[in-house]
Amino acid sequence: MKWLLLAAVVFSLATLATRDLWRARPENAPVPRPFEIMASPLAPLEPRSESCAPDNAFDAAARDNATSYSGLAWAPFRVPEQGWDAYAALIGREIGSTCPPASSAFASALAAWQKDNRLNPDGRVDANTVEKMRVAWTIKRPFVVVTRDGYCPPGAEPSVLADAQTSEGYRGKQVQVRADALAAYRRMREAAQRELPAAAADGNLLTIISGYRSPEHDAERCQVEQNCGTAARANCSAHRTGFAFDLYVGNAPGFDPTSSTDINRSFQAGTPVYQWLVLNADRFGFMNYAYEPWHWEWTGAPIAAAP
Ligand SMILES: [Zn+2]
Repeated sequence: MKWLLLAAVVFSLATLATRDLWRARPENAPVPRPFEIMASPLAPLEPRSESCAPDNAFDAAARDNATSYSGLAWAPFRVPEQGWDAYAALIGREIGSTCPPASSAFASALAAWQKDNRLNPDGRVDANTVEKMRVAWTIKRPFVVVTRDGYCPPGAEPSVLADAQTSEGYRGKQVQVRADALAAYRRMREAAQRELPAAAADGNLLTIISGYRSPEHDAERCQVEQNCGTAARANCSAHRTGFAFDLYVGNAPGFDPTSSTDINRSFQAGTPVYQWLVLNADRFGFMNYAYEPWHWEWTGAPIAAAP
């Protein structure tokens, strides 16, 4: 319970600090350039163990990680799930390691991160360690920061929205997003196609499954599908801002590309295109919602905070 409390306190403090930043900005101040409000969207990748040479001191931790990788029973997003494979790429990014998740080199890099973050540096992936990362990732999403007290920003004005090309929509779908976010998305997709053979070979990858959705649309869909429960979509989805993109990063056979089943999320987390995004999307101002490998938010412009 102690760490939960601690996480809540850290989250509150960090969130307050960020809200103050927003409030401190005069109303008519120029819109910040991308990244001005996001000092460092993700920790810079500083490989600590790029050689991936075995570190025998962490053999036991590596063995435990190999077991928990697909076996850990936990609920980092309040929904029970099994294994941490869906987060392995994000965890690797955070600790600066691209070594195999069950390697002693990975465990060694994790232990160094745990030590830096005043956690027990045993090199084991556990709920306590990932919770600290989850809180850090969460507060780097401006939408989460402005909505955490129950405030919901209005839907994007039509004047700031732009039509993506049908070749950018998943299976030719017509999608709208914020014009500035669309420009950033295009730069990111072009870079992926240059840098990643898989993205160059499959034009479906990184197409947009869903962009801007009006508040009315989401409310209606909830009503019809009766499946929103406590989901943000029922009340205040990030998609209303025009900054949120659901991107096609593959799907487990037989599953919808936005299926939140463990099987689909684990599959997606292992795709080269998702792993490329984890390592590179922040170059273009995009942040991932860790529970959904397909959901990315552009952070390059401020979102209106509560008046
Ligand atoms: Zn989404």
